Amino acid sequence: MSTAADAGAVSLAPYAAHDAASRGRRYQEAHAEFRSEFQRDRDRVIHANAFRRLAYKTQVFVNHEGDLYRTRVTHSIEVAQIARSVAAALRLNEPLAEAISLAHDLGHTPFGHAGQDALNECMRDYGGFEHNLQSLRVVDELEERYPEFPGLNLTFESREGILKHCSLRNARELGELGERFLQRRQPSLEAQLANLADEIAYNNHDVDDGVRAGLLDVAELRRVRLFERQYAAVVAQYPQLSERRLVHEVIRRMINHIVVDLIRNTGELLAAAQPRSIEEVRAHPGPLVMMSAACHAEHLELKAFLREHVYRHYKVLRMTSKARRVLRELFGALFGDIDLLPPEHRDLARRAEAGRGPAGRARAVADYVAGMTDRYAILEHRRLFEPGEPT
Ligand code: MG
Repeated sequence: MSTAADAGAVSLAPYAAHDAASRGRRYQEAHAEFRSEFQRDRDRVIHANAFRRLAYKTQVFVNHEGDLYRTRVTHSIEVAQIARSVAAALRLNEPLAEAISLAHDLGHTPFGHAGQDALNECMRDYGGFEHNLQSLRVVDELEERYPEFPGLNLTFESREGILKHCSLRNARELGELGERFLQRRQPSLEAQLANLADEIAYNNHDVDDGVRAGLLDVAELRRVRLFERQYAAVVAQYPQLSERRLVHEVIRRMINHIVVDLIRNTGELLAAAQPRSIEEVRAHPGPLVMMSAACHAEHLELKAFLREHVYRHYKVLRMTSKARRVLRELFGALFGDIDLLPPEHRDLARRAEAGRGPAGRARAVADYVAGMTDRYAILEHRRLFEPGEPT
């Protein structure tokens, strides 16, 4: 039976991910009647518990610092929005780009990168902790929703996109999904796109959040070429604009500038390379979804500026140092005595320890801690360490 999804596939470019060429799911399932495989993947991500938890996980600013800052869920939606615009313009598979974008941060710990670094440190003797790998673990193992398989049973293409980096040591243990890191092959164009959409989204929204938090001011930002060019154009056109609208308009134009550059440049690279299938994309010597060199340089300049002025601002460092301590102490207490875990996690830790020794127990504790939202981690830390706190 021909479905609406099949009809839509007619307009996909040959180098896009096509349902018919998918490397499939780990557990075989019947096709859906009205949705493509990648639409189903996207829908499963949206219905996942881990996705809802992203609403209470930090991007840069801790969840309770203010209601207007990005959280991981609003970040993921912005990534998906950018990825979808570019995918549509290049005739790539929009639902796949969206599925990868929405899933890319599912494995993130509470408290952003500070949390992930702390957990990686705690897990040093037990295989480490990488958030990309954890995102894959969430969709492959940790979500418990379906009667016939663990995880979300996503397609190979969604899983390939979620695992955007991985150490060679881990790649060797991942079977078909690790192959590309060992053989230096590329992922699908949709995966390459989601990866860049992530960078475009956070670079721009961190300017907005940084200004809102009072960590950045417009005068400083004007030293960044990407910002200054759009700033000058907006001020020339609207000399009386309030700062709030001015900043928003500049950011809107910066995103548009980068996205248009990305579409044009990628279009040229695809026209030159002429890949005839997703396999030819995978075999291509380098990525094909790229900004122009000039735009990329400016993008990196903004990233470096944000690192110095936002991510390394003392107020942010003060928060991240606290966050690292909370995660270290949580992990230490729970790993030291798994009877402190809620029963279902304690049972998982026992079973994992029986199978794989202390590394199994450590992984089960890391899964539990990584799944926490910012506020749950703070609450659990209080329950474990504050004598006056109700349990
Ligand atoms: Mg991200």
